[in-house]
Amino acid sequence: MENNDMRETDFLVASISQLSISGSSSPPVVARFRSDSLQFGLETDSSDSVQFDLLNCQLFKLGPFQSLCISEASEINKEKSFSKGITIQFRNEEESRQFHSAFEQWKKEVVVQGSSLPNGIGSCISKFDDKIEASSAKMYFHYYGQLLHQQNMMQDYVRTGTYYAAVLENRVDFTDRVVVDVGAGSGILSLFAAQAGAKHVYAVEASEMADYARKLIAGNPSLSQRITVIKGKVEEVELPEKADILISEPMGTLLVNERMLESYIIARDRFLVPNGKMFPTVGRIHMAPFSDEYLFMEIANKALFWQQQNYYGVNLTPLHGTAFQGYFSQPVVDAFDPRLLVAPAISHVIDFTTAKEEDLYEVDIPLKFVSSVGTRIHGLACWFDVLFNGSTVQRWLTTAPGAPTTHWYQLRCVLAQPIYVMPGQEITGRLQMVAHKAQSYTLNLTLSAKMWGPGAEQGGILQTSSGKLDLKEPYYRMSQPQTYATSQEQQPNQLLQAQDLQLQSQDEDGLDLLQQIT
Ligand code: SAH
Repeated sequence: MENNDMRETDFLVASISQLSISGSSSPPVVARFRSDSLQFGLETDSSDSVQFDLLNCQLFKLGPFQSLCISEASEINKEKSFSKGITIQFRNEEESRQFHSAFEQWKKEVVVQGSSLPNGIGSCISKFDDKIEASSAKMYFHYYGQLLHQQNMMQDYVRTGTYYAAVLENRVDFTDRVVVDVGAGSGILSLFAAQAGAKHVYAVEASEMADYARKLIAGNPSLSQRITVIKGKVEEVELPEKADILISEPMGTLLVNERMLESYIIARDRFLVPNGKMFPTVGRIHMAPFSDEYLFMEIANKALFWQQQNYYGVNLTPLHGTAFQGYFSQPVVDAFDPRLLVAPAISHVIDFTTAKEEDLYEVDIPLKFVSSVGTRIHGLACWFDVLFNGSTVQRWLTTAPGAPTTHWYQLRCVLAQPIYVMPGQEITGRLQMVAHKAQSYTLNLTLSAKMWGPGAEQGGILQTSSGKLDLKEPYYRMSQPQTYATSQEQQPNQLLQAQDLQLQSQDEDGLDLLQQIT
């Protein structure tokens, strides 16, 4: 809700009762938020209303639809005392939730009292605060506020080199255009956009990194005149003008981790002119079943510790099952050899220019593969790519196995129960990704294949294996010997060349997709 819309808000509540030994309940009353007060009273008669000063009142949840509103008296001897209180009975849980959220908003409004903050920072609960746990956001922005993590991304030359090429090769999309850099971090993409001739770049960054971005940009005087850093969340800040093009690097592991794509889409709806450009334009998640005995054994063996019956005289086995499940609930992040894939990959496309933010709350992907070999399938391997659909050049940034490794690596969901397949056999299933408040996703994976062997023709019994994984808690397996050198070990020039080859081979693919989405 926008700050300036908040002049009055009314709620109908089932009843209120004064806090007293024999407090009796009122008939339904209206709760009114008016500038700096909260009034409870009958719609018609305001003489009998109970009024709270928003500045010094507090609201507590007593139950799903019951809350306590108390007014704080001044602090005497450092001890809090409360002068007045009522219990509120809501008609249902949803109305209780809405009331609490309106209360928080109004209270913040009163606290900042007319000090009309630029960009509404802290003045209202934004879409971001609404769906993300405060503790998660705090850790998240603390992480990005540190230079070493920005450096880590900048040193991923596949990533940064592809952005640089995509921007500079598509100058026409930037020259004399207004650009918004969504989650600017160090400001590197804003500087690229300015190099490509942008009229003005608004670099929006929520973490403390915004201050360093200002410093970095100021140190590049030929570009700094055309860049303004704005510290705040894209969900909350106000900009003086609309953008012709958005640039951003919102991709996390499996594309969607961190839930920043939602911020990118919100930024589109808030700041981009109709039919404006987005860099990147489209993202794709690719998936294929894999077979990897070593990885499977490694994970299963981790739980062996809990098989001990005499660990300093203690039987650990009661926790073996829990530990086993726990290890399989961690998606594995590493670079693997593409020869481990046992079927051609399928993909799920997210068009950033048309997707709705809510589309990303739950992503449900039906799976269907045909196994190229007879093997044991241990799970689903996933990676992603994004397209910069420039007016001059279309560029893909890929994190595919076998392509130069990026800091995203690839992701594998390992199933506790492998599946046996014959060559040519069909594998079906589903990958359901459900967003959670800690800026990540719960992954529900199911893979099935028909049983083979004697009697299979008649029965067609399915072997099914399922797993529930938390994308927020991956197992980083990078300490293992890598099949592919990491990008950091290679020289940027070598990499750019290797990448060009890779991108060329993807061009046909890209054209197909462009036809699909335009
Ligand atoms: N654009 C930089 C940084 C990318 S990392 C680069 O390419 O190197 C993503 C950045 O977006 C982080 O610095 C993070 O703090 C910021 N960010 C994430 N969500 C945001 C939001 N909702 N509003 C503003 N900044 C956000």
